[in-house]
Amino acid sequence: MKNVTRFAPSPTGYIHIGNVRSAIYPYLFARQTGGKIILRIEDTDRERYVEGATELIEDTLQWLGLMWDEGPLVGGPHEPYFQSERKDHYLAWAKKLLASGRAYADPTPSEKIAEYREQCNREKIPFLYRNFRPDNPPEWEPGMPIRFKTEPKDYSWTDVVMGEMHTGPEVLDDIILIKADGYPTYNFGHIVDDAEMGVTHVMRGVEYLSSTPNYLALYEALGLERPVFVSLPHILAPQGNKKLGKRDGAKSVTEYRDDGVLPEAMLNYLACLGWNDGTEQEIYTKDELIERFSLDRIQNSGARYDETKLLWMNGQWIRRIFDEQGARALYDRTANFWPEDAASWSEDYRVKVLSIIYDRLKTLSDIREISAYFFSDPEVDMEMLKANKFLKKLSEAELEDLMKKCIAKLSDVKEWTADNLQNALNELLVETEKKPAELFSLIRIAVSFAAFSPALNLTLEVLGRETTLARLNKVARSI
Ligand code: GLU
Repeated sequence: MKNVTRFAPSPTGYIHIGNVRSAIYPYLFARQTGGKIILRIEDTDRERYVEGATELIEDTLQWLGLMWDEGPLVGGPHEPYFQSERKDHYLAWAKKLLASGRAYADPTPSEKIAEYREQCNREKIPFLYRNFRPDNPPEWEPGMPIRFKTEPKDYSWTDVVMGEMHTGPEVLDDIILIKADGYPTYNFGHIVDDAEMGVTHVMRGVEYLSSTPNYLALYEALGLERPVFVSLPHILAPQGNKKLGKRDGAKSVTEYRDDGVLPEAMLNYLACLGWNDGTEQEIYTKDELIERFSLDRIQNSGARYDETKLLWMNGQWIRRIFDEQGARALYDRTANFWPEDAASWSEDYRVKVLSIIYDRLKTLSDIREISAYFFSDPEVDMEMLKANKFLKKLSEAELEDLMKKCIAKLSDVKEWTADNLQNALNELLVETEKKPAELFSLIRIAVSFAAFSPALNLTLEVLGRETTLARLNKVARSI
């Protein structure tokens, strides 16, 4: 039998870092075992439904390279994959339970239920609806909720991540299956869908662990086999002992994409947040993740989200793509990240710039700032130059003299190549008897007015003779 997993998000907003991992593990497991993964949209909470959220989910998964085998966009044998379009399925299963006496129509108004709850509060006993279950429920009619009629008892099951679980009858209640609006609850809808869609492994957030006994009771009453349960621990907020949520600044995955995080890095980071293969390896391709992933190495405690680590990993991935696939391949990923002025320069020039700055990038959007002075003359800022920690010891006369020598030397470079420039810079060091930090800072600042630049000879080579000398002359005149 093939393994079938699913990702079943609710379209209530963007998918943030905290919930996309529930898509990654089922995907890796399905691909590793030759099974399949289904995307199912759980859109039955009409009050929380957000227009456009489904498209965002699809976009996010596609960008991460987590294409599903069945579901929206691709179809499949269990269509439709939107719960809101499957109401008749849930009703049919609920009717089976009504017929077998394991469910009942329940028109009890919510005020009455609130009273029961109050009563339990007063008596300091836990509120269980089954203790107030109506004696003679009416015949079901559309508009009436349907509740499960539970049979309190002990349950035991194995959760692949959390281990052996045991619960007593006190956790079982008459949960609602179908709401007054005709939509199923999550509790019922997912069980029907998982069964109809042949899901073998239910991987989802650990918040569903406490409801599992109620699900087990439903599987039993419906005559269904239990799937394998894999509860994924929370991703924790950077501070405190709480789940990462939108309020803790959990950004959407697409926001990271727009900031220049590569999908390889995002997938790598999230896959390793709460799972490891027992080695020290940190950088994994998708294929490696598929090969190495194992359910039994998912940690059972929460993993803390660390954006600094994600950005470090992204820097590693930027380098890896450059080193393994070449400058052009990296360049092809950078379309939206150049400064405006870059548009009037040739693609070849931009590739050259990228080739000397790529190893400084944490995200592709860093290109905008780091590369700015390659495309337009920086503003001359003599304060900045004179305040530099290596240059502030020099008098204005010394600075001026040094600058003139630099201009003269560099003007003499016949063929403007990185090697020739390096030779000229080395000769300058000898002739001026200055330290590299002084001499090179002066030239570097004069051509870039930036906090840092790539190796000086490479920077000058890419800037070209004319621009380099023009910028040096301009500074010389301003001293
Ligand atoms: N729709 C649920 C959610 O977004 C999914 C839980 C599950 O995977 O069953 O939390």
